[in-house]
Amino acid sequence: MKKHITAIISLLLLLSLITLRFSAGAAEDGIITPLKIVMADVGHGDCIWIKTPDDGIKGNGKYEGYNIVIDGGPSSRRIGNILPPLGLKYGSKVDWMINTHAHNDHYRGLIGLLDIYRVKRILDPGYQSGGTAFGAFCWRALIEPGGTFYSPVIGIATIPGLKSLSQSVPCPLNWGDELEVEILYSNPAVTNDTVNDSSIVIHLQYNLFSMLFTGDEEGKYRPSDGYNDTDHPMKVERFLLDHYVTEDKNLLKSTIIKIPHHGSETSSTTPFIKAVGAKEGIIFAGNRHGLPDETVIERYEEHGCRIWRTDRMDEGKSGSESHGDDSIIITSNGIDYDIRYMNIDPRDTEALARKKRLESERRMRDEAEKKRGEELAGSAAAPAGGAGKNLDAEPVLNTLD
Ligand SMILES: [Zn+2]
Repeated sequence: MKKHITAIISLLLLLSLITLRFSAGAAEDGIITPLKIVMADVGHGDCIWIKTPDDGIKGNGKYEGYNIVIDGGPSSRRIGNILPPLGLKYGSKVDWMINTHAHNDHYRGLIGLLDIYRVKRILDPGYQSGGTAFGAFCWRALIEPGGTFYSPVIGIATIPGLKSLSQSVPCPLNWGDELEVEILYSNPAVTNDTVNDSSIVIHLQYNLFSMLFTGDEEGKYRPSDGYNDTDHPMKVERFLLDHYVTEDKNLLKSTIIKIPHHGSETSSTTPFIKAVGAKEGIIFAGNRHGLPDETVIERYEEHGCRIWRTDRMDEGKSGSESHGDDSIIITSNGIDYDIRYMNIDPRDTEALARKKRLESERRMRDEAEKKRGEELAGSAAAPAGGAGKNLDAEPVLNTLD
């Protein structure tokens, strides 16, 4: 009897342990959506939408599902037609909107996005560009209901009403507890010909996955300016290497890089590419200015970086037709990641090509057989002497081989 009681108690204990483990597991393993980074094909220009991981529980600082937009491409109408179908619905809250720098192909689309989304924070390097459209962007950012316009992001605001996030870099950004995000560089005080070098540069880390967002930062001058040394970085890339890469640490290291400045020859010096050590490199391009530069692509590929580009299907298209068909989507759970073209997966393209080839071969075979049948029928009706022609069907069969 005692044995039975002991057995029953053991069984109950075991059951309670199983139940406890299951409960603990269920609480920890709530459904968390992966980090999603959409590189929207806006033609020539940049536009990135980031959706941080989301567990459906709001307000505890973890897995909050924030929306972040970095740059808006060259046109409000264009990006308004592209971003909502890619998943960022009209009227959504955008927690951070970042204009990397004051060039048309980065900020113009943001003006329209401010009209269709509720934007909480707008970040700008603070470079005071001329031009009415940039003025319109700044004004629109400043009056965004419920929003705060940080310009310059780094440094001291020189215009009343504008704010700065920080006086120095690196400047941490709170994109949820599970992500480590820092502004590595931003500069309001550049001269007009190097406005690209005002670009906000951001590093994102999600456990083992990381990505570097570079705007149009540069690392060298053009060969026409008498400088073509890709081994000795200058400008922003010099700054990044000096400040974030030492023997002990390398804050530039990233799984994926948004290749700077549309793959221009003025960026992506060899030491910079090596320090980042990216497995995947994404180029925003759209049939303009001879971008990307082939030597830049070669440098990345030589260092084991696979190239993805938003002008993949743009051959023969004009600049205004080159958007919308090559967006790239990246997802990561912090351990591994997936990257693919969003509209047409390359593997689908290969399968489609094979299917077309088989269809074409079958059609040719059917036509040849039909022709042969007609010839046979014709020869049966033909007068004597035509019989020899029957044998001419043979070459048709040979062609099918
Ligand atoms: Zn650009």
